[in-house]
Amino acid sequence: VKIGAPKEIFPGENRVAMTPDSAVQLQKLGYECVIETGAGAAAGFSDEAYTAQGVTIAKTGAALFKEVDIVAKVRPPSEAEAKRLRKGQLLISFFYPAANEALMELAKDKGASVIAMDMVPRISRAQKMDALSSMANIAGYRAVIEAGNNFGRFFTGQITAAGKVPPAKVLVVGAGVAGLAAIGTSTSLGAITYAFDVRPEVAEQVESMGAEFVFLDFEEEQQDGAATGGYASVSSPEFAAAQLAKFRELAPDMDIVITTALIPNREAPELWTKDMVEAMKPGSVIVDLAAERGGNCKLTVKDEKIVTDNGVTIIGYTDFPSRMAAQSSTLYATNIRHLMTDLTPEKDGQTNHNMEDDVIRGATITHAGEITFPPPPPKVA
Ligand code: NAD
Repeated sequence: VKIGAPKEIFPGENRVAMTPDSAVQLQKLGYECVIETGAGAAAGFSDEAYTAQGVTIAKTGAALFKEVDIVAKVRPPSEAEAKRLRKGQLLISFFYPAANEALMELAKDKGASVIAMDMVPRISRAQKMDALSSMANIAGYRAVIEAGNNFGRFFTGQITAAGKVPPAKVLVVGAGVAGLAAIGTSTSLGAITYAFDVRPEVAEQVESMGAEFVFLDFEEEQQDGAATGGYASVSSPEFAAAQLAKFRELAPDMDIVITTALIPNREAPELWTKDMVEAMKPGSVIVDLAAERGGNCKLTVKDEKIVTDNGVTIIGYTDFPSRMAAQSSTLYATNIRHLMTDLTPEKDGQTNHNMEDDVIRGATITHAGEITFPPPPPKVA
């Protein structure tokens, strides 16, 4: 049985779903590995690096899709790619089925099975396959690096012969996977780091990383903004107002603001308003990791870096993992390899698509000629 990774065709996408190292592990599971020529080039993996590990090369994407039984990709397939799928073939990639229904229908009509990496249940057992988390971790790290690159000062405070330098002040809004990675990166670079989340249970985590949790001046007990599975719910108008008031107070003092706030299946909440941007010092930087979903900052332009009239840089890039393609490909390919391990219990190169397995079931969106999305709700433990 052959598994192969094509070259990603989405503009600017540098990642690849199989690395020479992951290919070695996949071969240990009994699979033959194939890549499209040049598939790893943008992530720093040459064809030679793959062939040295026993991987064979397909000349084109079309040839690869034809040759292999299992296609591993990063981005959801294009329509043309989905049309290449065939009966019994398995596609593993990010898919975002709720937003890509026509594509899912197409894959089903072709008779292919699809495992959507973004649908892997976020339970402990599946952490090793959780590509949303591995990519969010990179995005959070890179957001701080990108901010630093656009910030004309040090993160850490210094007392030097040439003068005293104050430490930078960084505010991270949203302390999920990406936010926590940003907090860790920011504190390790020496910035004074503040963080806020609507889920009060993260305060302890934030503080354990050396950052200060921002509590609101809210009349009642701080609202618990947690919904199911550790995700946030929409805030009440009173809570949202208290949050904005707090941010307004902080804005003039912050050098860098990194926003990561998301609520499942909704546009990103608007948390950093125009007047807050206007209140910031010239030279300050905002990185809006929610840009893909409309942005947490009112002025964010998706995929762009802009500088406001008052000299604040706002970065709305949506391709942070791709900007660290060697690292992100390595982690993503490892997520896929772990998934393949679960799909290959006998390590004999034979895929057992076990729909009784909660993780496999949850991530499978088409199988045996049927749409299997959305999955049944998780069994209550
Ligand atoms: P996410 O990307 O959906 O949201 C990012 C953060 O924004 C969340 O922490 C959310 O609470 C916060 N947020 C929403 N509205 C906000 C607002 N108005 N102001 C400030 N912050 C706001 O979240 P995620 O990173 O995918 O993580 C969600 C949860 O899933 C976390 O609790 C995480 O620990 C959990 N998780 C568990 C596992 C696992 O057990 N395998 C894996 C990954 C994540």
